[in-house]
Amino acid sequence: MESNISDQKQSIYSAIIDASEDAIISKDLNSRITSWNKAAERIFGYTEAEMLGQQIHILIPPDRQTEEDEIIATLKQGKRVEHFETVRLTKMGKKLDISLTISPIKDANGTIVGASKIARDITRQKQYEERLRIINELGKSIYTQLDIDSILQTVTDSATRLTTASFGAFFYNKTDSQGEVYTLYTLSGAPREAFERFGMPRNTAIFKPTFEGSTIVRSNNITKDPRYGKNSPHFGMPKGHLPVVSYLAVPVFSKNGVVLGGLFFGHPDEAVFNQEHEDMVVNIASLAAIALDNAKLYQEISVQNNKKDQFISFASHELKTPLTTIKGYMQLAEMANLPLHEFAPKVNKQIKRLEDIITELLDLSKIQAGKQDYHFERNSLGEIIQESIESTNAIHHTIEVQNLPEDIFVQVDREKMIQVLVNLLVNAVKYSQPQTKIIIAVLLLGDEVRLSVTDNGTGIAKEQLEHIFNQFYRAISGNNKTKGMGLGLFIAREIIQAHSGKIWAESELNKGSTFYIQFPIERRIQ
Ligand code: ADP
Repeated sequence: MESNISDQKQSIYSAIIDASEDAIISKDLNSRITSWNKAAERIFGYTEAEMLGQQIHILIPPDRQTEEDEIIATLKQGKRVEHFETVRLTKMGKKLDISLTISPIKDANGTIVGASKIARDITRQKQYEERLRIINELGKSIYTQLDIDSILQTVTDSATRLTTASFGAFFYNKTDSQGEVYTLYTLSGAPREAFERFGMPRNTAIFKPTFEGSTIVRSNNITKDPRYGKNSPHFGMPKGHLPVVSYLAVPVFSKNGVVLGGLFFGHPDEAVFNQEHEDMVVNIASLAAIALDNAKLYQEISVQNNKKDQFISFASHELKTPLTTIKGYMQLAEMANLPLHEFAPKVNKQIKRLEDIITELLDLSKIQAGKQDYHFERNSLGEIIQESIESTNAIHHTIEVQNLPEDIFVQVDREKMIQVLVNLLVNAVKYSQPQTKIIIAVLLLGDEVRLSVTDNGTGIAKEQLEHIFNQFYRAISGNNKTKGMGLGLFIAREIIQAHSGKIWAESELNKGSTFYIQFPIERRIQ
């Protein structure tokens, strides 16, 4: 009966031990294995038959062999070793993170004869902890960084570690002039030359979905992908290329849905990336996008701030120049006791310049505050053109009007439309030689009217032409001696846009320029 109960107990214990998720191993004080349960077989890959009688050292990595002596010494003192986190080797040589609890086994006399060992595979748990740490670090660092380069580097490094990729890179969605190559921005795990020499994603079937943002590409073996190797000049993996077999590519979208670029990962082994890796990279990509949007915003604000500072010193300088001239005339008159009226035209010219600058500055601040008021009324186009020519006061130039239809009326803000035309005419005068002709031409295009102002002046270089409507932009190709703040065309564009119209220019260096404005004749109710 006695032995029956203990047999029963014994078989319950064995069942429990076999059912355990943890490896349960016993050993004698010579570190020889005396029992090996099912979980130990599963975790370490050795069968019970293989392990019974073997030294426990088989499981211990070479650099940790001394751990066993320390464990045995602790056991000999009758103490337990609890939750000792360490690394052990499987039969395949893979390193496992495990947590060990080792208790001494005593015989009936209380003498320590061996040890029971419970080994829990904490590789997953460690992996999660590591991932969490990387993600936390990533979150902290990308939200405190405002520099795009550092954000992208952190993102690429973290994502490469999280996916266990050998190589990781972020490519900007920018193509070169042939629309071929995407720009490498950051990379992890490989020297830059390795990518630059061969690896630039070309506009190929494999890379396209990422830069188009249409889909994520994850492949266990990209070299077997039907899209692989079809494109010149490489037709596959060129010699010296990073040995990418496992492949994962995730597009990075900005807030407004534009594909900023892509995160790319590679590994020389097959089937390295799984759904979990893909999900992590997708999350990182959206974190990165927010951080990049923020960094861009910050950069824009910094640029604006710099511009504002530059503007203040520039405007002060512009205002000071005519004042200094006026002051000079006044002092001269005073010192030489000359009649003031002799200087009146010169002083008036400087006062006019001051007035113009202040008007432009006021216009600019109204535009920036969105407070520019418009009064649309039916006006004779002929009258507007005439008045603009008179206000331009072009003494040394001829201004000719071509193709002005009679009785054409437009629904515009009279003063503002004159301001635009005067600006174009003053520029035409400013940027061309005296005694040359300036032509204003009118063209009716259905329910719109197009006015053009043509001069035979300095012209504007092609690369500068696209900037001339920007505030404070002054093309350097023009006569540098001309005065101006680079605000006139910016204000003109605002006014024309408020008339639901557009303004543009065509120009050839040293030949001349034509500025066009086109707007609806009748004002549509908006
Ligand atoms: P500015 O006060 O400098 O004339 P604008 O905004 O009116 O400012 O013009 C911007 C720049 O565009 C000028 O600085 C000049 O370089 C160029 N530009 C404008 N009109 C002409 C023109 N008719 N011919 C040549 N260059 C011109």
